[in-house]
Amino acid sequence: MTDAVRQVVILGGGSAGWITAAVLAVELGGSDPGAVKITLIESPDTPAIGVGEGTWPSMRETLQRIGLHEVDLVRGCDAAFKQGSRFNGWVNGNEGDAYYHPFSLPQGYGEADLVGGWLSQSPDQPFAETVSAQPHLCTERLAPKQTSTPDFGAVVNYGYHFDAVKMGLLLRKHAVDKLGVRHVADEVTTVHTHENGDIAALETKAHGKITGDLFIDCSGLASLLIGKHYGIAMRSQQHVLFNDSALALQVPYAEANAPLASATIATAYPEGWTWDIGLPTRRGMGMVYSSAHTTQEAATAALHNHIRKTGGPSDLAAPRLIRFTPGYREQFWHRNCVAVGLSSGFIEPLEASALALVELSAAMIRDEFPANRADMDLVAKRFNDAFTYRWARIIDFLKLHYVLSQRDDSDYWRDHRNPASMPERLGELLQLWHHRAPYRNDLFRIEEVFPAASYQYVLYGMGFKPKLANPRPARLAQAQACFQNSAIITKRFLGGLPRHRDLINHIHVHGMPSA
Ligand SMILES: Cc1cc2nc3c(=O)[nH]c(=O)nc-3n(C[C@H](O)[C@H](O)[C@H](O)COP(=O)(O)OP(=O)(O)OC[C@H]3O[C@@H](n4cnc5c(N)ncnc54)[C@H](O)[C@@H]3O)c2cc1C
Repeated sequence: MTDAVRQVVILGGGSAGWITAAVLAVELGGSDPGAVKITLIESPDTPAIGVGEGTWPSMRETLQRIGLHEVDLVRGCDAAFKQGSRFNGWVNGNEGDAYYHPFSLPQGYGEADLVGGWLSQSPDQPFAETVSAQPHLCTERLAPKQTSTPDFGAVVNYGYHFDAVKMGLLLRKHAVDKLGVRHVADEVTTVHTHENGDIAALETKAHGKITGDLFIDCSGLASLLIGKHYGIAMRSQQHVLFNDSALALQVPYAEANAPLASATIATAYPEGWTWDIGLPTRRGMGMVYSSAHTTQEAATAALHNHIRKTGGPSDLAAPRLIRFTPGYREQFWHRNCVAVGLSSGFIEPLEASALALVELSAAMIRDEFPANRADMDLVAKRFNDAFTYRWARIIDFLKLHYVLSQRDDSDYWRDHRNPASMPERLGELLQLWHHRAPYRNDLFRIEEVFPAASYQYVLYGMGFKPKLANPRPARLAQAQACFQNSAIITKRFLGGLPRHRDLINHIHVHGMPSA
């Protein structure tokens, strides 16, 4: 074993494997003798999970940095633009119960007392619609940019909805053809180790032993290296977030040119919740539920009903069942092995944080790439600390959606708001937020997964009405100016942005201006 870390072996060719390969190759790879060599091994017999079709805005920077063009994503991956999430029926399930968590920050965020201003001036208006143009754009199914806006440029913040399988193929082609990643289509059968316990090589069926200095486990829910080989346990979070099952189905539009949503739509039901991701040629839909509360048959019936109610066909296929243990590994980086993607953990797809964690993991491995084996243990410690913190914040944020619900139509919802199931830190913050708004010092790390603005959107969207202890009159006037500004911007955007479907059609025919 040489001391310098020069050979990276990635096990798995799902989204996690190919994103990580490309992120590392574009900056650490190349033809110099000292460059890092990246090999990705992917079983031809085990397909990637094939779900994971909603991203955060961070994906724009990731794609731009690895040298992909947005136009290729739109044309090659059936992609569309995502401006946030819409939550239907989460507060009480009554008619009209809906709110948005948009990607754009509130107008005047961090300057004015927006929450105090909203409570004193327009408490009956939805918070998100008062402070941001984006919910209005989503309701009208408008695009987040114009035909003249360049590649990756935005009028309002956005991420993507795309076909996960096509995205995997695009990433693979780019990583292999343009970034020099070596692709080995083969099954890994055995893990060989050095005397000290580090992984030395992965044995494959047809290509023999593939040696490396650093091994990245992107083997999905199988978690072959970090889980099966090293036995690093999963920290189950099932006592906090009960969902352990998902049903997935692809649904055609009634007409090819149907209006195209630009938010993921999450709809609550007594059995669980459904997702609806609008791609240009089909909808990716599914139901997430807890097997302790709902049977597969009941969840399938609820999903089928939902699809029919929202314009889907009456003859529906049986959905694909995916089971998972909600949780994350006690360590993500152990010895010379680091887990990225589903092998490191999975909670549930609410708020679509999994690919964002893949992007953050790949970026940290790239930025802190260890010079030698001795440094690797220090980098591993930092990585484990950073991602343990991030997983815990994701759990807090997802749980927030459930604890504030007033739904009383099943044990699923009642159990979710049992105080005993709430993480301690979230409970403490909720107590404080009765008297003040979430602000940046509640989430103070650089690259927090969810900023305080996201907590504000969900808290107030869920009907939480604080009694502010210390309103700041000077900043309330500022808030009013922000609301007026937001209303002016909303009007301008509603008049100036194209329909989402029209922009996608335009890009397919004419492409996009380059930045
Ligand atoms: C229902 C559901 C909905 C989701 N929705 C979202 C979403 O909207 N947004 C989001 O960000 N995330 C979402 N996710 C998560 C997202 O799907 C994953 O994070 C993402 O697809 C990455 O998966 P992966 O690459 O880790 O694993 P996989 O896609 O499962 O890839 C595993 C790879 O390992 C390879 N492999 C396995 N065993 C071997 C072996 N022995 N030898 C060689 N290769 C092997 C396989 O061939 C495959 O290439 C969702 C997940 C689920 C379950």
